[in-house]
Amino acid sequence: MARKVSIFGATGSIGQSTIDLIARAPRAYEVVALSGGQNIARLAQDAIRLGAKIAVTADESRLDELRGALAGSGIMAAAGRTALLEAAAMPADWVMSAIVGAAGLEPGLIALRGGATLALANKESLVTAGPLLMATARASGARILPVDSEHSAIFQALVGEQMEAVERIIITASGGAFRDWPLERLAHATPAEAATHPNWDMGQRITIDSASMFNKALEVIETKEYFGIDPRQIEVLVHPQSMVHALVGFNDGALMAHLGAPDMRHAIGYALHYPQRRDLPVERLDLAKLGLLEFRAPDDLRYPALRLAREVMAAGGLSGAVFNAAKERALDGFIAGRIGFMQMADVVEEALTQMSSQGGHIDADITLDNVHKIDQLTRARTDEVMERLG
Ligand code: NDP
Ligand code: MG
Repeated sequence: MARKVSIFGATGSIGQSTIDLIARAPRAYEVVALSGGQNIARLAQDAIRLGAKIAVTADESRLDELRGALAGSGIMAAAGRTALLEAAAMPADWVMSAIVGAAGLEPGLIALRGGATLALANKESLVTAGPLLMATARASGARILPVDSEHSAIFQALVGEQMEAVERIIITASGGAFRDWPLERLAHATPAEAATHPNWDMGQRITIDSASMFNKALEVIETKEYFGIDPRQIEVLVHPQSMVHALVGFNDGALMAHLGAPDMRHAIGYALHYPQRRDLPVERLDLAKLGLLEFRAPDDLRYPALRLAREVMAAGGLSGAVFNAAKERALDGFIAGRIGFMQMADVVEEALTQMSSQGGHIDADITLDNVHKIDQLTRARTDEVMERLG
């Protein structure tokens, strides 16, 4: 019987890689919902190609356009946040969560409540509301499978192992676009320069987050939340080749590394076929040709985001939601030319300080409502901080 699948964030980088895999075996899948944002043409084209039941754009004002693009196909068109959440509630066996940012949290929670296996690319879900997401999965008996490459690698290295035997988890970072730039030059880096990645082809926002290491900062928190491990047991290593995605160190001294070409279709495919392994259209590594793999400790001055992630994990509560919202706004500010590249970390740090002192309510329970409120409050505060700087 065909598996029912839905893809949220279908028009993005992860969404397109997911569609690539599904389109290779069309009879194996029945596509329920595809969601996108501004890219209506791509959304409609893929919905028709895959024979989806419904296509949803998150932008309410684009409904007519989507309807027009789907005319005669028999595919339902819908638009807006409510429509997106309704689509997430449609029964499915496997759901890809690949919307970018905090907007991806609620569709994932709804899919989990419905019992779907959630393939989780949207790391912001775990950063903003990790305990809520994990508890929702436990309550409904649904499974969350990590899609972030590092977390898929850790997950794979842990198959058949006991968490008690894990001493440490090491996630690797390419170092992003500015890895080899002198520190002084970073202050003047432009969004276009930050949006080119040496190894991975990803969405614009995560690519800039890779250059600043905010992406790795989110991933350290993601590791803590998903694997339930003490933050002191999580390490980050700069690894320019992006071939080793993560390593798990055990109490007997063994270090299990996961290697693979930098192609997200590996992690997506693993989550799609889990617990089986199936043939995937990814490059096979030629280690002899590669010759060398390098590793080095990250430079704290260059990457203040990593220190901030440690502070966020120590503070707990809703500080992950504050961190993510401040990071999203600071990134908007950088892309819009309001603040410089290195100022993003200053802005996030200031927002964190303000939110944890002045009645920021970071100690409130981690409920969807509280996460949403603190997210909005943080965005407003972050804008004020940027206003003062600019
Ligand atoms: P993209 O920017 O390429 O795609 C984002 C997707 O989300 C698009 O479909 C976009 O629609 C949609 N979208 C944007 N804003 C909203 C919104 N407010 N509401 C609903 N939908 C929205 O991102 P990526 O594919 O790179 O990343 C997706 C997620 O996966 C992120 O959380 C990222 O951190 C994570 N991830 C990505 C990796 C990668 O290799 N790209 C690797 C590991 C994790 P549209 O484009 O039509 O406007
Ligand atoms: Mg990653």
